[in-house]
Amino acid sequence: MENICAIATPYGVGAISVIRASGTDSITLVNKIFKGKDLTKVKTHTASYGYIMDENEVVDEVLCFVYKAPKSFDGENMVEISCHGGVFVTNQVLKTLLKNGFRMALPGEFSKRAFLNKKMDLTQAEAVMDIISSTNKIALKSSFASLRSQTRELIQGFRNELLDIIAKIEVNIDYPEYEDAIEVTHEYLLPLVDDLILKMRKILKNSEISTVAIHGIKTAIIGKPNVGKSSLLNMLLDEEKAIVSSYAGTTRDMIEGTLNIGNVTLHLIDTAGIHESEDYVESIGIERSKKAMEEANLVLLVVDASKELDSVDLELLEMTKNKNRIIIGNKTDLDTKVNLDNMIYISALKKEGMELLSNKIEEVTKIDSLFDMNGYYLNNTRQTNLMEESLNALLQAKKSMDNLLDISLIEIDIKEAFDKLGEITGDSNPDELINALFSKFCLGK
Ligand code: GDP
Repeated sequence: MENICAIATPYGVGAISVIRASGTDSITLVNKIFKGKDLTKVKTHTASYGYIMDENEVVDEVLCFVYKAPKSFDGENMVEISCHGGVFVTNQVLKTLLKNGFRMALPGEFSKRAFLNKKMDLTQAEAVMDIISSTNKIALKSSFASLRSQTRELIQGFRNELLDIIAKIEVNIDYPEYEDAIEVTHEYLLPLVDDLILKMRKILKNSEISTVAIHGIKTAIIGKPNVGKSSLLNMLLDEEKAIVSSYAGTTRDMIEGTLNIGNVTLHLIDTAGIHESEDYVESIGIERSKKAMEEANLVLLVVDASKELDSVDLELLEMTKNKNRIIIGNKTDLDTKVNLDNMIYISALKKEGMELLSNKIEEVTKIDSLFDMNGYYLNNTRQTNLMEESLNALLQAKKSMDNLLDISLIEIDIKEAFDKLGEITGDSNPDELINALFSKFCLGK
């Protein structure tokens, strides 16, 4: 295997940087530029202290971790060099490797090697990336489950059942005279296929819920002008400044992005127009809120609790009554004039009521029950799309059975279902697909 290297830690200044080197000769090649123990003689999984040398010059003081194939992340001989964490020095170490027999790794190349060496399947490789990009507990939990091969086991279970059916059909076709073989009839097949359809539907349903939890619950903040929507947004942002992402510009210009409240990731959708108070026409405001609302899985409806509700508030209340919503009575620092069941009282100005609100958000999104969910679910749309295709093939098989088509024709659909599931784990993936998938990974992974 070619010798490749890349910086595995983020670009920037830190205490240490890690440079990964992998390939058949990686240990020998690093050893040539390493002053310290003979790395070709050290045991696997050991760290050696020394210096990276560029001819007679010291490049940096480092620790070299040696991993011998196949017991390494990617299944190849590997050396991980921990050097000082400056940008310049890290690049100097990298350059020294490049001068001495290594080439730069492509994005995702280490993970691709791990996949090719059967260290992990595609779902596990994806889980590595998902762990890095997790923004909440649920996302992390589900990625870890996947890394620990939960997804692979799930898919393999389904594939084994399908394979069993295919094998029985083949025996029937190839050895019609073989009396001991089970005769695969429509009556025999139907309950098996039905059972698989049921199980797949359940997984897809679970995945839908977990996708929402992982990628954020589409949330719309609506309400009349001046009730305190942007103040509420500021309060939410203030509370969770550290984990807010993708807020470009000021919140007044743009209110799209994600933020974490406890265990829940909210994906705020832009309710354009809610800030325009001057030439505001109430009916237009309602139209705009309506659109945002339709898209949302969660509506935060803000009213000014210091004033009597007016017809617009009532209309918004009516409009959202069948939605997953939280009614927020703002401005409790003033006299409270509104009293509604289930209303969460806050003062966005004084930043009071945050805990009540975040508990309520967790409650209505049922994240806690989801979080305990030990059921199986898939982690991304690539996986769910393939399972849907597999399910469709089974539905087609069922239809063919209803039409009493020959078993050998039904087998084609069952094989299709089997193959589509294989693509999830990478067992039946064409090369281009593998390349496309791993190229989305970051360098050094
Ligand atoms: P929006 O138009 O719904 O986004 O409302 P804003 O957040 O811009 O707030 C409108 C006005 O109400 C501003 O002057 C805020 O300072 C004020 N405001 C917002 N929240 C509170 C609150 O909790 N108490 C009081 N007293 N005023 C508030």
